[in-house]
Amino acid sequence: MSTNVSNTIALLIDLVKRDSVTPADQGCQELIAARLKPLGFELENMPANGVSNLWARRGTSEPLLVFAGHTDVVPTGDINAWTSPPFDAEIIDEHVVGRGAADMKAGVAAMVTAIERFVSADNHHHGSIALLLTSDEEGPATHGTKEVIDRLNARGESIDYCVVGEPTSTEQLGDVIRHGRRGSLGAKVVVRGKQGHVAYPHLADNPVHGAAPALAELCAIEWDQGNDHFPPTTLQISNIHAGTGATNVIPGELSVEFNLRYSPETTIEHIQATVKSLFENHNLQTDISWKDSAHPFITTPGTLTDAMQQAINAEVGLTATLDTGGGTSDGRFIAPTGAQVIEFGPINATIHQIDERVSCADVDALSRIYESVLQQLLGKQED
Ligand SMILES: [Zn+2]
Repeated sequence: MSTNVSNTIALLIDLVKRDSVTPADQGCQELIAARLKPLGFELENMPANGVSNLWARRGTSEPLLVFAGHTDVVPTGDINAWTSPPFDAEIIDEHVVGRGAADMKAGVAAMVTAIERFVSADNHHHGSIALLLTSDEEGPATHGTKEVIDRLNARGESIDYCVVGEPTSTEQLGDVIRHGRRGSLGAKVVVRGKQGHVAYPHLADNPVHGAAPALAELCAIEWDQGNDHFPPTTLQISNIHAGTGATNVIPGELSVEFNLRYSPETTIEHIQATVKSLFENHNLQTDISWKDSAHPFITTPGTLTDAMQQAINAEVGLTATLDTGGGTSDGRFIAPTGAQVIEFGPINATIHQIDERVSCADVDALSRIYESVLQQLLGKQED
């Protein structure tokens, strides 16, 4: 191991070496807690159902600025396909290579060192700083951030600003800040027919023939046009199944699963009613079940987005775009508390892939950007 790496890169390497495949944490949170404790943070572990959660807070006054993230990572895939073993955290071409390097141990390491520098320089900052970590973001996410937020809500502890360190940058560090996310709604539809012999179709009812035109119509629906902050709502079919495997049997049922990523211009109720009446209009017998995974949220540009844009501009000279694309994130659990929530982190080009990597220079810059947000929102007032 090279000894001339920065504090942030050294911490990142330490974290990547812990093979915390979701929902495992493998001591990542303990390592971080041990660094925050001497800075005056109050530590609370909030484990739930095998998930590790850490809430660490310094100060009792408002406003409260929270850095949020996850210590779990997705599985490695074929280990032999990696250039270097996924939990060795080797530095190759000035990048840390390993599972979780970009998603999102870089963000977590950058938050911790930003807090360390800020607190040692400005021990009497105003407001409070907290770190919220979970080991269940990549999994079902039921006992992670949501659990911590439920407990904070129950005791009336409210968040003013929250920065989630997910990898949001696309081409260059600092090009994209997410200030909201689309909603996610899943559906499974079972179309019932009547099984029979292909030579005797008048004695059967083929659900494939019934469903095909209905699905074509479903895919062609224009749900909305999006708005200034959100792209249009989209629907994608992910699975279709029908058939017994035999070529002379008309199947008795067809099942199809699809997912909508929706903007606030369309409601869940509208989507559900539209889908229901579409199948009814095709005279199909269906059972429809829904999975409401995430509601859309938006943080209106203001104090927090301004501070982040200013910090990014000063560090890398870019004007970051505010965007609501990408998958769901734990921001969906924090935004309903009324907090301003944004996500900003390193380049996401290799996340969940073989040879996931993050640039060392970007990680150091990210830490300085987070530090600048702390200075702008909680630093000593001029007067
Ligand atoms: Zn992530």
